[in-house]
Amino acid sequence: MTEAALIDGKAFAANLRAEVGRQAAVLAESHDVVPGLAAVLVGEDPASEVYVRNKGKATREAGMNSFEHRLPASTSQAELLDLVAALNADEKVDGILVQLPLPGQIDSGAVIDAIDPAKDVDGFHPVNMGRLVNGAPGLVPCTPLGCLLMLKDRLGDLSGKNAVVVGRSNIVGKPMALLLLRESCTVTVAHSRTRDLAAVCRDADILVVAVGRPAMVPGDWVGPGATVIDVGINRVAGEGGKTRLVGDVAFEEARAVAGAITPVPGGVGPMTIACLLRNTLHAACLRRGIAVPLAD
Ligand code: NAP
Repeated sequence: MTEAALIDGKAFAANLRAEVGRQAAVLAESHDVVPGLAAVLVGEDPASEVYVRNKGKATREAGMNSFEHRLPASTSQAELLDLVAALNADEKVDGILVQLPLPGQIDSGAVIDAIDPAKDVDGFHPVNMGRLVNGAPGLVPCTPLGCLLMLKDRLGDLSGKNAVVVGRSNIVGKPMALLLLRESCTVTVAHSRTRDLAAVCRDADILVVAVGRPAMVPGDWVGPGATVIDVGINRVAGEGGKTRLVGDVAFEEARAVAGAITPVPGGVGPMTIACLLRNTLHAACLRRGIAVPLAD
């Protein structure tokens, strides 16, 4: 049997970032606009610190402005809402990203609701979620957008394909399902209460797994020739006391059956930051009535 093709998210993301950089340069030249992304980090969570640093670096590399706001873990909700209001009003800021999770005293829903939907580059605001449900243009959550771009690059027209999304979170599973529906897939959303998940998965032409359980999907849940997108990022014990990252899909087993598969790391992960830059560019254009340069 032939092995599945690898979907190289790292290379795809590098190309997308370069394209965003080219389009940002065109925007600067044609409209004298340099898109700006404000990232807000509350507290000192080491993983969040790395994410915010990487996002800032990627933003600058794409020729856009990066504004980083670091607040102490003791920040109150009112203080964070004041900062969000200031960023909403700041003409230099086109995208606002509040790194999650937030400390317990802050209601993250209230903070997301306070972000101007036109600057909501994470695509989590109810207005942007509503636009996605309605099939209207808006800012789309970065991780599912990255999955969709890779699927379309790999498969072309997705119309009529059987797509199964395992996981129904607001940040991955639900928007992923809506994006696939927008592409005229027949979509099933599976979750922890789904009966006979193995049979549901096996039926998929496109299988997107976003659960957060290491190697939960074994090879015999994957249909022959299916395209598998593994969103999971799980840190597990590796050799010599070190840890390593694995996805939600048993990679080697699935690779023997699937038509194409994303690796972990190097699959969906790098696409998330690339799509954040793309959303920032789009937000800068949309706010000013300029046609967006990169289609979904
Ligand atoms: P989440 O909010 O914890 O949601 C997990 C989903 O998986 C829930 O809908 C849950 O179902 C479902 N689930 C849990 N156990 C299950 C089981 N045994 N069978 C079927 N479904 C099950 O997680 P998330 O935020 O969507 O993230 C999912 C994974 O993606 C994590 O590993 C996360 O680190 C990763 N992630 C990666 C990126 C990236 O950039 N690559 C971005 C975001 C997330 P119920 O709703 O029924 O509980």
